[in-house]
Amino acid sequence: MNSHEHGTSETFHTQPHSGERPDLRSLHIREDVARTGRCGNVHLATGRTCILPERHQGSCDFVGPDDAKGLLP
Ligand SMILES: [Zn+2]
Repeated sequence: MNSHEHGTSETFHTQPHSGERPDLRSLHIREDVARTGRCGNVHLATGRTCILPERHQGSCDFVGPDDAKGLLP
């Protein structure tokens, strides 16, 4: 008896490196803010929103939800 069975049904799930940027992971864009011409970046850790003009220079200036709300129509 020489019936060795080799299971060759291993499924490999290769994870492609799709250029993930961990530095962007903590940011989200608030579309309603962005639509008003603001940066709209949301710092997820704090829930604060950047209300500086779109494509502003320098780093974002995050403000609390109440301040961001005042900008919206
Ligand atoms: Zn910003």
